[in-house]
Amino acid sequence: MKSSPRIIEVKCSRALSRSNLPEMDYSLNPYHGCLHGCIYCFAMDFTPEYDAVEEWGSKIYVRTNIAEKLRHEISGLKRGTVGISTITDPYQSIEGRYRLTRKCLSILLENGFYVTLQTKSPLVIRDIDVIDSHRENVDVGMTLTTLSSDLATILEPGSPSPASRISSIERLSHAGVRTWIYLGPIIKGVNDSMDDIEEIVGVCERTGSRLIFDRYASYRHSDIMISSAAESSGLRADLKATEEWWMDLSRNIQRIGKDHGVVTVTQDEDWKLEKKLRIRTLEKF
Ligand code: SF4
Repeated sequence: MKSSPRIIEVKCSRALSRSNLPEMDYSLNPYHGCLHGCIYCFAMDFTPEYDAVEEWGSKIYVRTNIAEKLRHEISGLKRGTVGISTITDPYQSIEGRYRLTRKCLSILLENGFYVTLQTKSPLVIRDIDVIDSHRENVDVGMTLTTLSSDLATILEPGSPSPASRISSIERLSHAGVRTWIYLGPIIKGVNDSMDDIEEIVGVCERTGSRLIFDRYASYRHSDIMISSAAESSGLRADLKATEEWWMDLSRNIQRIGKDHGVVTVTQDEDWKLEKKLRIRTLEKF
């Protein structure tokens, strides 16, 4: 039986960080560490609390005063796009108890910021009232790395099932919320089957979501965790995939997307599409 997560409550000195990503101006992370515990997670290399990294998926820092800090910080700040969250999942299970994502989301939207949310959790549905009342200024991305629950259990041991994520994105889409699906990271030999990817494209088609996809990027902690999973569960991951593999895969995904009438774009290129469509403000300082 999985042991209870270790939760450490802390006070933060700032709520927003300036983002280096081209598609957003600021990032906001109510938690450090992530109980979803994905073995491929790049955030392990960017989480400041080393013990949360060492116990990835079972230890989490809760930034309990983040909403108060945010309210204070934004008064003189230029409006722009805020990504919630970039190094954790904003709707992991403890959000049900702390409601920090909900509070920050409400503050940002009420004060004219654009918010982009990315999650693997159906808990996002709880906030559909907030999202719906500001639907022009918010979009929701759901990550789907695979539709196989067995594979998801190895890759994302603490995450909600792929089926529950699909139901959530369907509900959001039917409610008129702007949605997208993130397929990534794609790891050669693990989740690069074109049949599975076509099913995920099918979910995009049903929900009117665009598909953003990306390949696995090598990071110190995730390399170790994937290699360890390969030994214990027989995962046949090729962490040294070639550029040729990626170009072939990208072309195939784009072809399937075209067949299904789904916009497909790599993570690297997505911000350019957003800029072209003027989905977000993309204001810069
Ligand atoms: S849900 Fe996202 S932040 Fe959390 S462990 Fe998985 S990849 Fe990392």
